[in-house]
This record gives sequence, structure tokens and C-alpha cells, in this order.
Amino acid sequence: MSERVRRAVVTGGNKGIGRAVVERLSAEGFHVVAMGRDQEALAATAAAAPGPVTTVACDVTDPASVTEAFAAAGPVDVLVNNAGIADSAPVQRIDLASWDRMLRVNATGPLLCIQQVLPGMRERGWGRIVTIASVASHQGAPYIAAYVASKHAVLGLMRSLSAELPGSGITANSVCPGYVRTPMTERTIANIMEKTSRSEEEALAALLAGTRLGRLIEPEEVAAAVAFLASDAAGAINGQSILIDGGDLQQ
Ligand code: NDP
Repeated sequence: MSERVRRAVVTGGNKGIGRAVVERLSAEGFHVVAMGRDQEALAATAAAAPGPVTTVACDVTDPASVTEAFAAAGPVDVLVNNAGIADSAPVQRIDLASWDRMLRVNATGPLLCIQQVLPGMRERGWGRIVTIASVASHQGAPYIAAYVASKHAVLGLMRSLSAELPGSGITANSVCPGYVRTPMTERTIANIMEKTSRSEEEALAALLAGTRLGRLIEPEEVAAAVAFLASDAAGAINGQSILIDGGDLQQ
């Protein structure tokens, strides 16, 4: 590597986990490119970051938008596939549009972004690709089959990608959190409250019932794992999935 400052792209880098990853990588000295659709939230994230953050509009489900965004981003050393959506419905009631959308954002989006950065990483002989997968990449659960399917798909993508990388200087790994304190989880709690007439406190307790941690995971705890996987120190770690769930699942 030359002395140039390493550049890290974070998709969905304007809220929740993505925002925490932007802040952490910026603090670690990366030039961060935060991608997303909500421009106002992107600008707020950039303003709050400790170092330089460029913001680029990108809808990961739209191949033309992805191509344009990565052309604007410049050479990418670290790609963090974070953009994601969640929805719930019993299997019998999953509609095709929602199934397709879940797979497009959570699995096809990472594929499109990976295809943008791989050639440059190979040329430069160094790269880190980290995907925010989920405990749902490892285990099914009721009413979230579309989400679980998309997160299994993206873990499979990352594992296969990692098998194509030996000798390239590039690694591909996933981090798999349980429930994290983000807008996505706020919506999940609101949904439980609406469907079960529980209070916020009761809904949160239902979400965390049976977890060893007994609390939500902080976005910064996920960002710390991403920062490690993005570092030179993690060069021998490839094809792994790091569970951040307090030890519920042990693979
Ligand atoms: P949030 O809902 O808080 O944020 C989602 C992010 O994804 C936003 O920045 C949003 O940007 C972006 N996004 C959604 N759709 C698109 C799209 N089509 N194109 C580009 N960006 C998009 O989610 P979290 O921070 O909670 O989740 C981040 C990731 O972590 C997701 O992949 C999620 O599945 C995963 N995860 C979350 C867990 C949790 O408990 N919260 C647990 C395990 C994994 P914009 O608003 O600009 O569209």
C-alpha cells in the first residue's frame, strides 16, 4: 500500500449501525464515504464525524445508482455492506413484492457493491469487505422468514466470496449481531406494541426474553468489530462470521 489514506465505503451510512461504523472508521483515520438515500441524514452523519466524510447518494437495489455512486467514491479499500431492511409476516402471508424487496436490499445490494470494489482491490493487492449480516444468518425465527432468507443468502455470498480470495490480500467477513439499539429495532418494538397492546418496556422485554445479554447491543459494539475486521491486524481472518449476541449462538 502507498501512503494514501485508506478509503472506506459504508452503505446505509446515515443511521443506526451504519452511522456508528462511519464514526468509528473516521476516528480510525479512514477517509469514509457514507452512502444512502436520505441526504439529510447523510449530511448530519458527516457533520458529526471526527474526520473527513464524503456523502454519496446510493440506492443499493438500483444497479445504475450503485455504479454511479462507486464511480464518485474513488478507489475503495474497505467496503462495509450495511444497508438493510427488515419486515415481518407469517410465511403464509408474505407477499411476493416484500419477499423480492428484502432479497434485493439485503443480498443483491451487497453483491452489486462487491462487484464494484473487487477489481480495484485486486489491482492494489489489499482490501477488506465486511457485511453486516445477522444472527438471522444462522438461525430461523417465527414471522421473519423473508429477512432470515435474505440474511442466510448474504452470508452464503460472503462465504463463497472469501473462498475466491486467497492470495489476493483481500478478506471477506460478516458480523452477525442480535438486536441492536437502532431505528430498525425501534420499529420492531413499535410493531410488537401495536400487535400485542404491550407497553414499550414489555415489548422490549419480550424481544430480549431468553437472550444471555439481556439488553440491546449498542451500534458502537458492532462498529468495533467492523473496525477490527477492516484493520491490517485482521489480515488472516477470512470467510468468518462474528456473532455479536452475548453468546446465544455458538458456531
Ligand atoms: P436502520 O433501519 O436503522 O438503518 C438502515 C440503513 O439502511 C439506513 O441507513 C438506510 O439508509 C439504509 N438503506 C435501506 N434501504 C436502502 C437502499 N435501498 N439503498 C441504500 N441504503 C438503504 O437499520 P440498522 O442500523 O438497524 O441495520 C443496519 C444493518 O444491520 C442492516 O443490514 C440490518 O439488517 C443489520 N442488522 C440489524 C440489527 C438490529 O437489531 N438493528 C441486528 C442484526 C443485523 P436510507 O435511510 O438513506 O435509505
